[in-house]
Amino acid sequence: MSVNSPQSTDKVQVCKLFVSIRPMSAIARPVLISRRVLLAAGLSARFLWSERAQAAAPARPLPAKPSLPLVVLDPGHGGKDPGAIGVSGTYEKHVALAAAQELQRQLTAGGRYRVELTRTRDVFVPLDQRVAFAQRHGAALFVSMHADALSDHAVRGASVYTLSDAASDKQTAALARRENAADRFGGPAFHDTPPEVSRILSSLVRQETRQGAARLAGRVVGEFGRDLKLIQNPSRHAGFMVLKAADIPSVLVEMGFMSNREDEAALRRPEHRAKVAGAMRRAVDAWFAVRPEKSAGLPQTQG
Ligand code: ZN
Repeated sequence: MSVNSPQSTDKVQVCKLFVSIRPMSAIARPVLISRRVLLAAGLSARFLWSERAQAAAPARPLPAKPSLPLVVLDPGHGGKDPGAIGVSGTYEKHVALAAAQELQRQLTAGGRYRVELTRTRDVFVPLDQRVAFAQRHGAALFVSMHADALSDHAVRGASVYTLSDAASDKQTAALARRENAADRFGGPAFHDTPPEVSRILSSLVRQETRQGAARLAGRVVGEFGRDLKLIQNPSRHAGFMVLKAADIPSVLVEMGFMSNREDEAALRRPEHRAKVAGAMRRAVDAWFAVRPEKSAGLPQTQG
């Protein structure tokens, strides 16, 4: 597909939901509720949440074979939000969608997963709806795909980001701020405050989720390192809003940076995007291969 088409005129979707999972420090006062009570309350909160999510986001039927694990790919930006614009005019949103479609093709070719995209065309999707989409469909893994810009145009190469309350470095903190600002394109937002109990519940499942995300980030960096250029310290973390699904291991991949002329030129080429997708596919394969509880039917090999 073309990655250099003019800006879309898609209608703006107004953000009506907001997933806010606050750091543990925000709920530091003693909580004397048993875990069982929390889980029960959390289940009903979760039910309410999923009801609301279904009301807000358009329902899309998923293909058959529900037994296969679902990988949700999230092409960054779209519609009125072009993402970063490269030094020679390439829009990040087009690169992100083209790369996600290529990764979907490669992942589904193996027959081991179902793969869905949070957007399949040039349309604006608020960050919280991307997360809600993955949660509603019970995704096993969530991978957000980007090619942003950095103020230092010399920085070149891929990098992988996981969720953290504190950013690993200033560059990543700035990147997360820009990514999280994508919702400014959505107009005035109607933010729901989730019940306190669901925040507490989420902290219980979060540690496990973060471990899964860190393991995937490590795999992606390892595979990228084989035949793609990486930035220094390529595994980073910050408070990316789109990674805030408490129960789905989520990573954000910067396939390169639009602010670097060579990265931009490379990402415009389908062969390069196929190489990036190939590395990500191997990482996903390796991640599922050692997942203890849900890897039935997959070869138990270390990737
Ligand atoms: Zn981006």
